[in-house]
Amino acid sequence: NEVILSVKNLKKYFPIRSGVFQKVVGHVKAVDDVSFELRKGETLGLVGESGCGKSTTGRTILRLIEKTEGEVMFEGKDVYKLSREELRKLRPNMQIIFQDPYSSLNPRMTVGEIVGEALIEHGMANKNTVKAKVEEVLEMCGLSSYYIKRYPHEFSGGQRQRIGIARALALNPKFIVCDEPVSALDVSIQSQIVNLLCELQQKFNFSYLFISHDLSVVKHISHRVGVMYLGSLVELADKKEIFKNPIHPYTKALLSAVPIPDPTLKRERIILEGDIPSPANPPKGCKFHTRCPYKMDICKEVTPEYKDIGNNHFVACHLDGR
Ligand code: SF4
Ligand code: MG
Repeated sequence: NEVILSVKNLKKYFPIRSGVFQKVVGHVKAVDDVSFELRKGETLGLVGESGCGKSTTGRTILRLIEKTEGEVMFEGKDVYKLSREELRKLRPNMQIIFQDPYSSLNPRMTVGEIVGEALIEHGMANKNTVKAKVEEVLEMCGLSSYYIKRYPHEFSGGQRQRIGIARALALNPKFIVCDEPVSALDVSIQSQIVNLLCELQQKFNFSYLFISHDLSVVKHISHRVGVMYLGSLVELADKKEIFKNPIHPYTKALLSAVPIPDPTLKRERIILEGDIPSPANPPKGCKFHTRCPYKMDICKEVTPEYKDIGNNHFVACHLDGR
């Protein structure tokens, strides 16, 4: 399948200001040199502890917030070279689904208005056609069109997330950033929403960047998985490969915390010591060295290169398994 999104050396640094004159005294390196590609119909799961830069990566790609450096190409167009008007036209193609659907749904608008608003704004429906379109999209998301006149507070968490999905789906997107879309939901509801996203992908061939701190959620939906630590991708590979043959000690640690159904599979248990360092002041060399059980002298000084060790398995570690 063709590449739909290509992210190269993306950086997002937030300035830290201090004092009366609000002088910039440092930067939070939220996204620090991230590169990957996403293909048509593909889901890339992006995992890592909270605060590691997953959401900022998603938002910077969509240009909801501005990058500091790097390149984002969507269908061959540099997202950061588009004019305001060109970007507005591209918007429907690149959508986002949020973790907390409630806070992203206007409480004073009915479901019909919420889903219909963007359709009208982007000229994809008019006053006469919007109702039928909204009903169609709601039904695709498992919501009866009977709900069209109801308000967000009348729905359960899972149903609200279906409204959030319907709002994105209505615009015929090609690429959707799913930012922890099931993290706020009960486990039983999580799988329903994940299944809905999978079904819609099969129908419409969407590409997803699926952000989650939960590897077991990502495991189900992703084709490939990327692991982030302190703003950097430390490992990225096919899902099967990363679950069977993780190379980076941080990936191994995350995996060792996920229970495995097959007891004949052995996995070393890795307990990480210490807290995540501040992204305003990340450790020198390998950013993970302050918590890595395998660290060597070189790790404290030299940043490991992020490279392909074969089969499109990318790792940034001095112990890269070869
Ligand atoms: Fe651990 Fe060194 Fe690899 Fe970093 S480079 S993950 S400190 S072994
Ligand atoms: Mg987040």
